[in-house]
Amino acid sequence: MKTNILVIGSGISGLTYAIKVAGLNPQLNLVIISKNNLLESNTKYAQGGIAVVSNFQKDSFDKHVQDTLTAGAGACDEAVVRFVVEEGHERLNELIEWGAQFDTKSNSNGLHLTREGGHSEKRIVHHKDKTGLEIQKSLIKKIKTFSNISLLENHTLVDLITDHHTGTDYKRCYGAYVISNLKQEIIKISAQITVLSTGGAGQLFSHTTNPKNATGDGLGAAYRAKVFMEGLPFVQFHPTALYPKINGNTFLISEAVRGEGGILKTLSGDEFMLEYHEKADLAPRDIVARSIAEVVNESQDPYVLLDCSAISEDDFQNQFPTIKENCQKIGINPPEDAIPVIPAAHYFCGGIRVNQQGESQLKGLYAIGECSHTGLHGANRLASNSLLESLVFSHRAALDSLKQITGSLPPKEFYDAIPDWEGEQQISDLKISSIGKMKKQLQKLMTSKVGIFKTSQGLTEAELELKNIFLETRDIYQQNKLTLGICELRNMVSVAYLMIKQSQDLKKNKGVFYNHDYVE
Ligand SMILES: Cc1cc2nc3c(=O)[nH]c(=O)nc-3n(C[C@H](O)[C@H](O)[C@H](O)COP(=O)(O)OP(=O)(O)OC[C@H]3O[C@@H](n4cnc5c(N)ncnc54)[C@H](O)[C@@H]3O)c2cc1C
Repeated sequence: MKTNILVIGSGISGLTYAIKVAGLNPQLNLVIISKNNLLESNTKYAQGGIAVVSNFQKDSFDKHVQDTLTAGAGACDEAVVRFVVEEGHERLNELIEWGAQFDTKSNSNGLHLTREGGHSEKRIVHHKDKTGLEIQKSLIKKIKTFSNISLLENHTLVDLITDHHTGTDYKRCYGAYVISNLKQEIIKISAQITVLSTGGAGQLFSHTTNPKNATGDGLGAAYRAKVFMEGLPFVQFHPTALYPKINGNTFLISEAVRGEGGILKTLSGDEFMLEYHEKADLAPRDIVARSIAEVVNESQDPYVLLDCSAISEDDFQNQFPTIKENCQKIGINPPEDAIPVIPAAHYFCGGIRVNQQGESQLKGLYAIGECSHTGLHGANRLASNSLLESLVFSHRAALDSLKQITGSLPPKEFYDAIPDWEGEQQISDLKISSIGKMKKQLQKLMTSKVGIFKTSQGLTEAELELKNIFLETRDIYQQNKLTLGICELRNMVSVAYLMIKQSQDLKKNKGVFYNHDYVE
């Protein structure tokens, strides 16, 4: 298969990028591949909303910039923070033009704004408590209006095509080898521009708010293509995930609940957040997550409670219908009943290093959204800044790739001659049953030794244990037919390895990174 542009991933980043490019240059052909259906993504599950300065009477770009820098603990790129904050408004309007609807104030057409942890003002634009689903559905509807975009669901990135495969020295990316999940065959998609928008890797941990497909595939493929990655130790744990799992998944209790008056309490009914931070329940996420983890460790209680009784029944129903519905599934009825919560792996602040246009160090390879490292989040993401980052960088990457594609590229004959997949294609699938077991083993290891609290000894042990998992994974990879499950496991192991190595290199606690040995 040949295309001008290959987009890998169909969350907010991939879809926004593709809509932009396809609209600006209808002559170009785009292919979007998605591991499952188009909807399934981290984007679909985003509840809180998008942080955008809208109320200029009270709020300002400077305040949003400052809040982002404070959360990022001195590790943000200030220039990036500023343009992301300043361009957000225009990108949000575009999203609204494409059909996404956001809640408005009851007495006017102005957007209803809510507040989340670390924000000094109310600036979160939202659609009830299912902002991501609304955005994702609108983008899918819009993307289907373009005849120059082909959509391939149930297709999984295996590896990026680089000089390693072509024997050339253009130092570019030329597309990707992709596995069709249903037919289990590997196809080659050659492309002048390739975009990774594959999201995060929350599945590396036992408790995560991310869906099952968040296995860090883009990061794993970029690592094999020798693309530079940074900031991987900065994994944000969301402080409040619902303690009991629903159908094996951990459900998020949005920070907006605390923004509207929810208070964290011990099982004995004591408030505790003021002991840890002056902003109490609205302190930055890393502090709230660590505080809860500490309370849970000390008390040996399995969870803490989120008391929502300060929120009226009507307001809760109106603003948090999905949270209410999910709590009711396990017999809890907020705001009357307090919600049992624990921290869960939520957001990868690190990723593929990109420039201000979203391009990686490998020419023709862009990375946008959660798989990228732009410099916006630093050592800790400010709540609701990630959807914003996706919108702003999709726009920038789209404009930049349009420029690049009309510039000088390798000749057409070169793309025609790209070799087919020559990797391991065995027929036996004897060991496939062990993949699920190994994923669980890896999750357990990462949770206990590379989770909210780390120690240098724990990281050394994690490295050793990971080596065994790596060797077993390599055997499975080499001896079996390539499947979605093997691809995921291989990527998870690579990301875990990078995370451990980069954590060992960090010698100071910063943002969400916390090594007990560095506490002064
Ligand atoms: C529960 C939850 C709540 C959140 N709430 C908020 C919020 O309120 N505000 C906010 O700003 N952020 C929030 N976030 C974070 C935000 O949703 C994500 O960072 C953002 O949606 C990422 O978008 P993305 O397009 O980069 O990736 P995703 O939306 O995760 O999309 C990734 C895409 O890549 C595809 N993919 C992955 N691997 C492969 C592969 N190997 N081959 C092909 N396709 C592949 C997936 O199928 C998917 O289509 C939340 C996240 C979660 C999980």
